[in-house]
Amino acid sequence: MIIFDKNHWGWIVSLLIILFASLSVWAEEGGFKLRILGSGGPGSTQFRNEPAVLIENGSDFVLVDMGNGTWETLKKLGIKTSDIDAFFFTHHHMDHDQEFIPIFLSSYFGRESSLSAVVGTAGTGELVDFVLSFYKDDLLYRLSSIKKQRIEEISRPEVREVHGGEEFSLLSFTIKTAAVNHTIETVAYRFEANGKTLVISGDLYYSPGLVQLAKDADILVLDAGGILSTANNSKKNYQSNKNKKLKSPESKVRSHSTSEEIVRMVEESTPKLVVLTHLPDRKVELEDIKLLFPESVRNNIMLAEDMLELYVGKSKSAY
Ligand SMILES: [Zn+2]
Ligand SMILES: [Zn+2]
Repeated sequence: MIIFDKNHWGWIVSLLIILFASLSVWAEEGGFKLRILGSGGPGSTQFRNEPAVLIENGSDFVLVDMGNGTWETLKKLGIKTSDIDAFFFTHHHMDHDQEFIPIFLSSYFGRESSLSAVVGTAGTGELVDFVLSFYKDDLLYRLSSIKKQRIEEISRPEVREVHGGEEFSLLSFTIKTAAVNHTIETVAYRFEANGKTLVISGDLYYSPGLVQLAKDADILVLDAGGILSTANNSKKNYQSNKNKKLKSPESKVRSHSTSEEIVRMVEESTPKLVVLTHLPDRKVELEDIKLLFPESVRNNIMLAEDMLELYVGKSKSAY
């Protein structure tokens, strides 16, 4: 028989207090998890992968974009492609979608629940149908071998093409979309779950739709593909930039925001945390980037890096 003396009871009570405190902190935080799998842009290989974000809520796994390096990073994290419940594309530029075919195909093997959906801009359905038709015989052969029975049909996931302005539920998320300005049709996504919100901007230059979509979000993952060309060219900072006129979107074919546009979108949408991504394939200093922002939002800015893990909804001090 175990007899607890006074000291033992002291320990037990302390442990119970700690356990209760951590449980209540967790309950208060709620939220869900995101992992940056790729924080670079086109051609990134050395310091960063091409863009990809993994969102996790319990057993729900959603992959948003899948540029080069995505599958390798999933492997490093111990996540199987068959764990992915939905694929999302912000747009169909190669740096955002070129690992779709291998990841999507391999996700058919070992899957316990069927793939819920593939969501993306125009052309997404065509891409899914092409892959399933081109590899049909191979998929049927491999699935039949794995399951040791003849498989006759390949299940086609629900495909949802979005153009901005949609709102729908998928898995444990409520999802809203907004069209943003880029060289081709691009959408930003707002994921809501457990009372918390995450917005992924996609590639863009200044877009009022993004400002509205990201209003007061807990985390905004924001394309900053153009920020360093401005930051490195001169000793520019917020004070010298703030009176400059934004470039007219019609002036030339535009792809990414200038630093002024990034600051403006952050100031107007007031997210609790901004994760700048689509960064160059080299080391970037956060302190240099912060100087581009007014002091009022400077401490809410961080830089994405591959395998960065964040909880949407944690207090700012926890990041
Ligand atoms: Zn891109
Ligand atoms: Zn792009």
